[in-house]
Amino acid sequence: MKKPTLAITVPCYNEELCVESTVNSLIEVLRDLMAKDKINPDSFIYLVDDGSKDRTWEIISRLHEKNNLVKGAKFIKNFGNQKAHIAALLGVRELGCDCAVSIDADLQQDQWAIEKFIDKYMEGADIVSGIRNSRDTDSFLKKTTALCFYKLMNLLGVKIPVNQSDYRLVSKKTLDILSQYPEKQVFLRGFFNEIGLKNEIVNFDVKPRLYGESKFNYMTLIGLALNGITSFSITPLRIIAVLGFFMALFAFGLGVHVLIEKYIIHNTPAGWATIVVLMAFFGGLQLFCMGIIGEYLGQVYREVKARPRYIIEKELR
Ligand code: UDP
Ligand code: MG
Repeated sequence: MKKPTLAITVPCYNEELCVESTVNSLIEVLRDLMAKDKINPDSFIYLVDDGSKDRTWEIISRLHEKNNLVKGAKFIKNFGNQKAHIAALLGVRELGCDCAVSIDADLQQDQWAIEKFIDKYMEGADIVSGIRNSRDTDSFLKKTTALCFYKLMNLLGVKIPVNQSDYRLVSKKTLDILSQYPEKQVFLRGFFNEIGLKNEIVNFDVKPRLYGESKFNYMTLIGLALNGITSFSITPLRIIAVLGFFMALFAFGLGVHVLIEKYIIHNTPAGWATIVVLMAFFGGLQLFCMGIIGEYLGQVYREVKARPRYIIEKELR
């Protein structure tokens, strides 16, 4: 296989403190790989500014003027990290590359692992996923909730390895498939594990964030998790159906029991407690199930409107 043109894609949201040093480190990686003759000299870095409110885009533009290895696009407003990733991947596909590696702007992922990604690519892998060696840089709460999420996804039939991140290499072929997915809410970790291309993994170390703070809060993480589930699994809907069936069976049995008590044994107790407990139980259960259905309805609602995924204001090629 001939040596590839590599595009490194970086989503950036309010990263004015990180972006310059990150770009410099990534340029160093590109130069190193070029010197080792592992990638083509027309390889580049592509940054998507996800509607930052700080000087991020200014810095990216300046870096682009200084060095043509640096390219990028700017969203008109904040569309969220998944959309920034998708825009970056589709953007580099348009510009032309053989493979793309996505990495975070805070460079928490070890950028020197990119060489291992390229090696796996050269051995024929279409997707190389970065797996964190540990999550020591995350808080206890984030670690446990993330673990629960991956376990739940696996139970629901979406096989994502635990500790996967959005640090991965994908081939041109994968990008072509991504471009054929019309759905607006693509959950990338699910997508890349689903499409059936050859998947390899590379382990890497996570570093603490260099500057600034995490751009995710628990609300966005919950949103990401719900989106991941509802866009890749309909098992919760089936569980509701099965649950509903057994509940109906139970209610029927209870009805028979009550009738026997009333007309045959002639022993109708006050029964207040039972009624209150059952009402609360069924009320809660129904609301919960409606909530799950509502999530799917919301997913359909968003997709059916078919609005653009994101809007690009400017691009630096
Ligand atoms: N990010 C983004 N849009 C957002 C939030 C985050 O593009 O709305 C980017 C952010 O700039 C970074 C990556 O997504 O490059 C991961 O974010 P962060 O490092 O804050 O997340 P954490 O590592 O804490 O999970
Ligand atoms: Mg980070």
